[in-house]
Amino acid sequence: MTVPQWNLSELVESTEPQYLKTELKNMVDSYQKFADNYRGRISEFDAGELRDMLEGRDELALHYEGIREYCSLIFSADMIDPTSNELNNAHIRASTEVGKAMAALGIELAQFLMKSPEIIDDPELADYRHYLEKQARAASHLLSEDEEKIIMTKDQNGIHVLSRLQSKWLSTRSFEVEIDGQTRSLSIGEIYAYMHDPERMTRRAVYESIGHTLKQDEILWSDILRTIVADHAAMCELRDYSSPLEPTLLANDVSIEALDSLMKVVQDNVELCQKFFRVRAQLLGLNRLGNWDLRAPLPNAPDNRYTWQEAKELVFSTYHDFDHELGKWANDVFERDRIDAQIRRGKRTGAFCSTWVAGRSAFILQSYNGRLNDVNTLAHEMGHAVHAYMYTREQNYSNCRVSLCIAECGSLMGELLLADRLMQQATSNEERKSILVKILDGFTLAVFQEGFRFIFESSLYNTLEMGEELDGAKISELWRLAQDRVYGDAVDWLDNSEWDWARFPHHYFAGTRFYNYPYTFAQLFVFSLYHMYKEQGAKFVPAFKKLLSAGSSRSTAELANELGMDIESPDFWQKGMEQAKKFLVELESIMNQ
Ligand SMILES: [Zn+2]
Repeated sequence: MTVPQWNLSELVESTEPQYLKTELKNMVDSYQKFADNYRGRISEFDAGELRDMLEGRDELALHYEGIREYCSLIFSADMIDPTSNELNNAHIRASTEVGKAMAALGIELAQFLMKSPEIIDDPELADYRHYLEKQARAASHLLSEDEEKIIMTKDQNGIHVLSRLQSKWLSTRSFEVEIDGQTRSLSIGEIYAYMHDPERMTRRAVYESIGHTLKQDEILWSDILRTIVADHAAMCELRDYSSPLEPTLLANDVSIEALDSLMKVVQDNVELCQKFFRVRAQLLGLNRLGNWDLRAPLPNAPDNRYTWQEAKELVFSTYHDFDHELGKWANDVFERDRIDAQIRRGKRTGAFCSTWVAGRSAFILQSYNGRLNDVNTLAHEMGHAVHAYMYTREQNYSNCRVSLCIAECGSLMGELLLADRLMQQATSNEERKSILVKILDGFTLAVFQEGFRFIFESSLYNTLEMGEELDGAKISELWRLAQDRVYGDAVDWLDNSEWDWARFPHHYFAGTRFYNYPYTFAQLFVFSLYHMYKEQGAKFVPAFKKLLSAGSSRSTAELANELGMDIESPDFWQKGMEQAKKFLVELESIMNQ
């Protein structure tokens, strides 16, 4: 099977390492010059001068984007090659220098916007309106330049070290588990592979071992987590945020009203999730699921294989039939060798899509094995790519920073459209069942399990606020409470699984709190959109493309409004639930045939 490797040479004038290192140095110098040129002048700017500065900064970013992309992508493609390591490190160092050089300018701009907020609505700045709005909202929470510098310096050797300690410690743990009659000692990465083992006893033993091993280090996990949570709460108070949630709402560009409506609908529909778990138990021939069965493979699921050519045709025609222009961009990704799908030693695992704004294009990385999951991953990443093709054609560089809540629109829609096509082509009920179960597995994970992880994280802050002790036992109790609400009486779970919170790295990301809800948001948002597509047919397509083209030029609520949706109303989110119900009804009717 010939699987493509990408061609990165278009990103740079020369791939000679010495040339690239000199260019990175030039980049740092150019940014330093740019910052020196504007330093101390912003407070006197009129709209035209502010526009010149923002355009100048965009130009600079576009000029050096290719080399930054190149250094980071060759590293993902080969993480053991000394040259790619060297270039990636040089790129990280240079980017840190750029960040430092530009930080003071950011604070100056923030202070100016607080003093003269009316400038944001000046017609001269129309292309930067929403970008400036976001800067202005964040501005009132910034401290002085010196204070910000001290925090940055102290965090380097403080909270960020703690944040990394969790993953380092977890990666050194050994998990003892009996597989096929043999006791084995596995790393966390190795044991994860057995969580979806077809053998039920193996899966149970794996979950038991994970919980048991995590519990041994409860003091470490809870001390790190409590410190990160307490640090975030203290910083929010210092920065005058109304709650620990507020900075993430600003970063994700959503309102609290929209999030409240979303979470209300998630909680009101939890029975839908439990109903699916009962159906899943039936499919596995069980009376009731254990938490170790939630992602178990279905017995008799066909193990279809797809050549690269077949995957390519499936994904291309999925987008092409939805809309010719999206099909054209998908084709462009294939024809220009923008995909690295080969399996190689040293290559990064997983999959991603990276936008290249200056080239109005994107690069995709995945490891293609020929299974249905790999075709699905290709459709997902292609959704990100066509999204990038759309907004990089319409927006300036500053408006190409799409928030997490909107970033998954193209990719999740692509997965649903692919599922549509596969359902039409399926030749057996076993095949149809596995397609529908895959959709509902993804849906219940993102909407309910991750949704309730948001509720868990909120309860950590509430506990601290009430002055209660947040030790391992308390954190586990809060985790259990949140999980119980998702599982109800539909799922049994192992006592030791109450330590599961300890293994998720995102609970410990110092800079990123409340990591889960954007995924809940994105999943239900796209299910609601797909529901509209099914109601409206071709009429829906131009509106959806408008959303993809908008990049980050408007807020999520504004974009939704333009599509005739009100994301602050529960009715909108309920549409997504109705769509999931439809899939479940379809699954049950196939099971009864
Ligand atoms: Zn994605």
